[in-house]
Amino acid sequence: MTDKIRVRFAPSPTGHLHIGGARTALFNWLYARHNNGTFILRIEDTDTTRSTDEYIEAIIEGMKWLGLDWDEGPFRQTDRFDVYRNYADQLIKEGRAYYCYCSPEELEARRKESMAQGKSLKYNGKCRDLKGPVPGIKPVVRFRMPVAGQTIVDDLIKGMVTFENEQLDDLIILRSDGTPTYNLTVVVDDVDMKITHVIRGDDHLNNTPKQIQLYNAFGYPVPKFAHLPMILGSDKARLSKRHGATSVMAYYDMGYLPEALVNYLVRLGWSYGDQEVFTRDELVKYFSFENVGKAAAVFNPEKLLWLNSQYIINSSTDKLAELVIPFLEKNGVIEKGQGMDMAWLSKAVGTLKERSKTMVELANSLRYYIAEDVEYNEKAKEKFLTEKSRDLLAALKEALTAVPEFSHHELEQVFKSVVETHGVKLKDLAQPVRVAMTGGTESPGIFEVLEVLGKEKTVTRLERAIKGI
Ligand code: GLU
Repeated sequence: MTDKIRVRFAPSPTGHLHIGGARTALFNWLYARHNNGTFILRIEDTDTTRSTDEYIEAIIEGMKWLGLDWDEGPFRQTDRFDVYRNYADQLIKEGRAYYCYCSPEELEARRKESMAQGKSLKYNGKCRDLKGPVPGIKPVVRFRMPVAGQTIVDDLIKGMVTFENEQLDDLIILRSDGTPTYNLTVVVDDVDMKITHVIRGDDHLNNTPKQIQLYNAFGYPVPKFAHLPMILGSDKARLSKRHGATSVMAYYDMGYLPEALVNYLVRLGWSYGDQEVFTRDELVKYFSFENVGKAAAVFNPEKLLWLNSQYIINSSTDKLAELVIPFLEKNGVIEKGQGMDMAWLSKAVGTLKERSKTMVELANSLRYYIAEDVEYNEKAKEKFLTEKSRDLLAALKEALTAVPEFSHHELEQVFKSVVETHGVKLKDLAQPVRVAMTGGTESPGIFEVLEVLGKEKTVTRLERAIKGI
């Protein structure tokens, strides 16, 4: 039996959960769930000048919203400094790491000289074989890299990537104040947390040979790697704020459903035949690194919007009604905490979901159902609330007042008889009614609209329209 798969998402809390980070988290999550493995959340907050608790919260909020649940953690590296020091001590004892007393000034001077001579900028190994400490100087600890041979990264996406060991610097693992550096903390945690697969962005590929040497030094079987290709903007530059929103929660604010974003993110690099829309169960079932491409993926906001509209269409109206409430509060259509008739809201949503690409659009359209009154679009009013339509609207109001039940069928009958009596076409009546009911000229079918509005609101709005002509 093979060992259980253990993967981790290891964000640095120096910003919100962004598109790239979310995709890394998602691929880790999918790989764990596909293999019945364990997904660990590890917060890499050792850069205390840039890490904040707010960003930790924000990352957790983003992951929860996307439904990426973890099995262990969140662990924080700042809670684990003792662990890193112990591991570093072990390396020192075994002669795999050494104290280095070179001052920053000395290193800088040497670096400049090497640069001028066109030589390698690597540490020159001066303190590698020192016999004893240099008094009065707080040393750093460097890892002794092999000076010859090659380190090969066996990557599930990139294949074999070979690095020459002579290029690898004797990296600092503890600073002079005793704090651990990035490459040490990552490897110690991977060892300590028994990580079997390291799945991360390929901007980390250059760190991997150094880390492999550290895994070896700790006698830990080197994990498998999967370095994910970068995500680019439409201009083929690395995705950044210039290309629009990059924070995951900004997509919540813009009215995206988490399922749509997950579906979109997974397709940034992964494919399964021509299939575009996947349920979460399908993703878990089909996911593998064999179908992750090598090329960078281009972020396409239009496609994300299209997917979102598909997810809205395919969501139940009850669910959408629940989800739209915060958006209605935000756009001021309802008060925070105001009770809602959810069955009615669900019906209203049903008339709009095919026409709404985002939850924000849905909430904005719901305004004319929920608000006491509508605001007329000036052009629509001028064109349709005219002398000519006044009699029609008045006749309709009369007829509707007498209708016992506002059903689609009844409404259709009433409209038909008004239209016939006045010798006009259905649209001659429907458009003025639409403006009277919604303020504009675009809406779901007019019978559906009236059914949702109900008799009282319909009649009041007709009266107002007639009076205003
Ligand atoms: N903390 C690193 C980052 O946020 C990830 C390191 C890793 O996955 O190995 O980029």
